[in-house]
Amino acid sequence: MRDRYELIDKLHKTHALSKEEWIRVLENQSEEVCRYLFEKARTVRDAIYGKDIYIRGLIEISSYCKNDCYYCGIRRSNQKAERYRLTPEEILQCADEGWRLGFRTFVLQGGEDGYYTDALLCDLLKEIKKRYPGCAVTLSLGERGEESFRRLFEAGADRYLLRHETANDAHYAKLHPDYQQLKTRKECLFALKRIGYQVGSGFMVGSPFQTTENLAEDLLFLKELDPQMVGIGPFIPHHDTPFGSYPSGSVSLTIFLLGLIRLMLPHVLLPATTALGTLDPQGREKGVLAGANVVMPNLSPVMVRKKYSLYDNKLCTGDEAAESLASLKERMKKIGYTVAESRGDYR
Ligand code: SAM
Repeated sequence: MRDRYELIDKLHKTHALSKEEWIRVLENQSEEVCRYLFEKARTVRDAIYGKDIYIRGLIEISSYCKNDCYYCGIRRSNQKAERYRLTPEEILQCADEGWRLGFRTFVLQGGEDGYYTDALLCDLLKEIKKRYPGCAVTLSLGERGEESFRRLFEAGADRYLLRHETANDAHYAKLHPDYQQLKTRKECLFALKRIGYQVGSGFMVGSPFQTTENLAEDLLFLKELDPQMVGIGPFIPHHDTPFGSYPSGSVSLTIFLLGLIRLMLPHVLLPATTALGTLDPQGREKGVLAGANVVMPNLSPVMVRKKYSLYDNKLCTGDEAAESLASLKERMKKIGYTVAESRGDYR
């Protein structure tokens, strides 16, 4: 019992635990331990970022994907997935709307879709930077070559999100076909860091076959990578995938991990994700109170939102929608936080 508090104190002080220590902490989650952890996590986050919660306007640019991740609703083998892709003009219209609403960071996310060549993306990035001076652009478009990452960075991309999904090779192989390799994903992440991007990685909580040891390995990998952003959210099944009948990940374990990640990487930009909000109507609040400081409302055109269906019942309306910013601000205010209309860079 005492051991758990001591380990949280150690993490608070040294920002690191051994694999065995991580497993002990993860296996001994309780309400009192959570309370103890979240208070520390809030203190650490508030000391660096104050009471500001940063918003990112998420534009889901394509539901075409050449990959076949077993958990994902837009995997290429899902014949039932509805496919769409946004043209540069449509993406700019989303950004126009986002800028008007007060967003100063745009996240362009999509499946791995060859339509978005370096040339197309570079022109688009330059146009976004010209139209909205001072905005930040985050890309989340999967694996690309180092030269491609470099060209996009030089054209104006500031940040890149690429979850490692699981840091264990055997577990990775249970979630992906052979031609998708953890090694490649890790190489991309280190290349992105070398180039100078603010980098985000992360994983799903409760993905099929995940063990506590795997979670400990994920945390150790994040420590080694030392990213500026970490995205974690519960796994949620999609009925048209091989994992359609697997149970969802746990909300309480996800927020416990948010608190632990805040202590391990005090400066990290940490979203309370859509998946967390999908499983629990109070998910975003719980995430923020556990140490998160980012939310990513949906700025995609309303007509395509349902088609970017990564998992069942994915939120894209209500307070998840960028149009409902006023309501999101109100919700954050109720728990003592303020939505900041700024780029929200890593400090
Ligand atoms: N293609 C890009 C990539 O691979 O990074 C970005 C899009 S991908 C759909 C974004 C993230 O969605 C993945 O990193 C994965 O963790 C998450 N995701 C996919 N299927 C999910 C599911 N069933 N439950 C929860 N998250 C899921």
